[in-house]
Amino acid sequence: MDFSLTEHQDDFKSSALEFARSKLNDAVQERDKNNEFSRSGWEACADFGLQGVLVPEKYGGLGLDALYYAAIMEGIGQGCKDNGLVFSVNAHILTCILPLLLHGSDELKENYLPGLVSGELIAANAMTEPDSGSDVYALRTSAVKGNDHYLLNGSKTFVTNGPVADVIVVYAATNKGGGFFGLSCFLVEKNSPGLFIGEKIEKMGLRTSPMSELGFNNCKVPASNLIGEEGAGGLLFSSSMEWERGLILAHCVGIMDRLLSDCRNYARTRKISGQPISSHQSISHKLAEMKVRVETSRLLLYKAAWCKTMKKPATLETSLAKLSISESYIENCREAMQIYGGYGYMVEYELERELRDALASSLYSGTSEIQRNIISSLLL
Ligand SMILES: Cc1cc2nc3c(=O)[nH]c(=O)nc-3n(C[C@H](O)[C@H](O)[C@H](O)COP(=O)(O)OP(=O)(O)OC[C@H]3O[C@@H](n4cnc5c(N)ncnc54)[C@H](O)[C@@H]3O)c2cc1C
Repeated sequence: MDFSLTEHQDDFKSSALEFARSKLNDAVQERDKNNEFSRSGWEACADFGLQGVLVPEKYGGLGLDALYYAAIMEGIGQGCKDNGLVFSVNAHILTCILPLLLHGSDELKENYLPGLVSGELIAANAMTEPDSGSDVYALRTSAVKGNDHYLLNGSKTFVTNGPVADVIVVYAATNKGGGFFGLSCFLVEKNSPGLFIGEKIEKMGLRTSPMSELGFNNCKVPASNLIGEEGAGGLLFSSSMEWERGLILAHCVGIMDRLLSDCRNYARTRKISGQPISSHQSISHKLAEMKVRVETSRLLLYKAAWCKTMKKPATLETSLAKLSISESYIENCREAMQIYGGYGYMVEYELERELRDALASSLYSGTSEIQRNIISSLLL
């Protein structure tokens, strides 16, 4: 068993860290306050190759595997403080590019993947609805087939990238009441007649990642924009979710590493009654617990990424990674704030933003409760 990255993977991770640190941290505090998405940051990520890490070279990507993705994203998280931007890029790749790459027709891949990789196109994913969240397969948006098109009707909410998206992966029922096997998946262009993009939804954290509702009123989508077979939407969604659960928090391992290093430095230099606060066991033990959470998160992340790379079943591994990393990430942000005392609560120190951003990780891509349901169902 070898726990180290290869030299090549490590080089990618280091260059991702350097890239993120030097190119993605402009005015994050200001943009967070103003809910502002960075289009230039998006393009810089594409120039670096981020959107194309998992995409074959023939479509303009780097053609790398899930282990590289985990390593590169860990480096990005270590260097980048714009968590909203990274969240938007992750949503674009894991919930849009991947379903298209793994299940789309050659025509769809040729038409859209080059733009999705180059940074020209931004993608969003629309599954959640006002009346279906964790019970995803109970969605109500319908798709009725015409001669050469489908007509979509319904509404979606919490659509990450919705306000800036050029294309949207939409799940809808082609067989109402058919549940899992009644769903289909479509690639919908933003200018499709009958598609309405709602106002930006304001969030507590990840504020530089834009979000909106979507409405479909007899929205006409060419039949050729069906991703996979009609009725395969449920399978497609669950396969896409496995990738998402396994990899969407890779950058958070990098963030946790950065926070730990900051906390270590702070604890050694902050003196109270003439003593560094690190001399108190209550503080040094916090650092030890943070380190345990960083290392267990990293092990679970790379185990999940290894399973995906080796094409092994990964339902358990990806749920373990999603549950454990999200809860560790939130806990480490809380502990970082405690170590910094009152300063940690102040906007200037950027820890309150980290905590606000972190809290969403136990909600998106399946809540912690749903991950526990998946894990326990595999145990019992
Ligand atoms: C930042 C962010 C970005 C998002 N981006 C997208 C996106 O791009 N596209 C998209 O489609 N959706 C997106 N979502 C939506 C997200 O997937 C849902 O919020 C999530 O699936 C939970 O659904 P819900 O909010 O309706 O909560 P509900 O399903 O209403 O759940 C409420 C509470 O009940 C619990 N619960 C529900 N069912 C069960 C159960 N069976 N067992 C135990 N507990 C249960 C939940 O865990 C939760 O605590 C995003 C959400 C967030 C926060």
